[in-house]
Parts: sequence; C-alpha cells; structure tokens
Amino acid sequence: MVREDKSNFIAEVSHELRLPLANVKLLVETLLDGALEDPALARSMLMRTKDEVSRLQNLVTDLLSHEKASSAGRFVKVNVADRVAYVKETTAMMAQAKQIQVHTDIEPDLFFRANAEQLDQILLNLVENAIKFTPDKGKVCIKASGKPDTLIVSDTGIGIAPAEIGKIFQRFYRVDRSKTRGSTGLGLSIVKHIVDLHGASIDVNSALGKGSSFTIVFRSPEGEANG
Ligand code: ADP
Repeated sequence: MVREDKSNFIAEVSHELRLPLANVKLLVETLLDGALEDPALARSMLMRTKDEVSRLQNLVTDLLSHEKASSAGRFVKVNVADRVAYVKETTAMMAQAKQIQVHTDIEPDLFFRANAEQLDQILLNLVENAIKFTPDKGKVCIKASGKPDTLIVSDTGIGIAPAEIGKIFQRFYRVDRSKTRGSTGLGLSIVKHIVDLHGASIDVNSALGKGSSFTIVFRSPEGEANG
C-alpha cells in the first residue's frame, strides 16, 4: 500500500471503529446510570451491546483478511473443485439456516493458476454475500470453467441498483447500512484487491429483485491460448 493510501486506510478504519465503540460506551454508561434496575430494559441494552461487539469482531476479522491479501504470495496450480467444495462446506450452515440451495457446476479436472488461500477468500466472500443478500429458499450457484479460466457466483437475491454497482467495491461501502448491521463493507474490496493481484477481471450483472452474478476471468498462463 502506498503511503497516501495507507493513511487514508487508517483514517477510514478509525472512522468505522469509532461508531460501534461510542455505542458500546453509551450503552454501558446508561446501564450503570440506572437502566440495570429495569431487567427488560437492561436485557435489550445488553443485546444491543452484543450486536455492537459482534460488529467490532467482524471488522477485526475482515481487517486481518485485508492485511493477508496485501501481497500476491505464491501462485500454484489450484484444483478448483476442491476449493469450491471447501467453501461450500464452510458456508453450509449459513445456507441451511435460510433454506438456500447452493448448486455447483465445475468443469472436470479444472485447475486455476492462483494463490489457493486467496482463491478461497474470493469464493468465501462472494458466496457469503450471495447467501446474505438472498431471501429464504433462494438459490446460489458457483460455476467454474476453463479457457478462459472463469468463476461465476450467482444468486436469486435482492439485486443491486445500477447506480450502486460502481460503488460496492469501495472499502466499507454498504448499499443499505441499516439492513447490514453485521457487515463491514470490506468483503468486496478484498475480492477486488485479490482479483487485481492475479491480473484477473471482475464483472457484476444484477437486476433489482431478481439477483446478481459476479464473474471473474483469470488471465491464462503465458503462452497458452485464451479462447
Ligand atoms: P459486506 O458484505 O460486509 O456488507 P461487501 O464489500 O462484501 O461488504 O459488499 C458491499 C455491499 O454490496 C453489501 O453491503 C451489499 O449492499 C452489496 N452486495 C454485495 N454482494 C451482494 C449480492 N450478492 N446481492 C446484493 N447486494 C450485494
């Protein structure tokens, strides 16, 4: 990260940390000032405190992922079906809780030249978003094919308005902050950063109320035809 970007980043992180911390302080102070005497009120305030602390926890987790994605690391031949299986398993409980079916369509014997951990990170962020922004009983699909090496994560979710599509890759950007309280808005900025490190491209197709699809095209290894 260049110096100016780093100082912007620190300013943005401080800004994102300030609100949940101020909320926790206010909630605890109100409890100590007498709200503790009213069990129902105390309970609801503690639930809100718990939400704010979860948000801080998510921020720290995402900031660590951001840091991990700061360099390209080692590119190797990665078995795509294995990575997709890992991500499907990791997100299975989240999908089950919303009765969302996660369908996979992976070309046999498909290998991408990538950093395996970062490929997991891309897949996890896209699949978690697809589940998060899809109503109950919806569908999510992970598709991968070669020549050119392409990964598509699509959903039947709430969709993204055309005016928002250009902004969703910005750090900390969330379309509707009130409805994404547990979210940090860092996931897609991490995805974009990793995509750039791989010399790949990412495209979004979305229709409000119908769903979204994120397509990543990896650069073919040098000397190989790309078509
Ligand atoms: P987070 O998921 O932590 O909010 P992201 O950077 O991953 O942050 O996403 C930024 C925003 O883009 C989300 O808050 C949401 O508004 C929108 N978004 C991302 N993925 C989807 C999706 N599959 N469907 C609808 N909206 C999405």
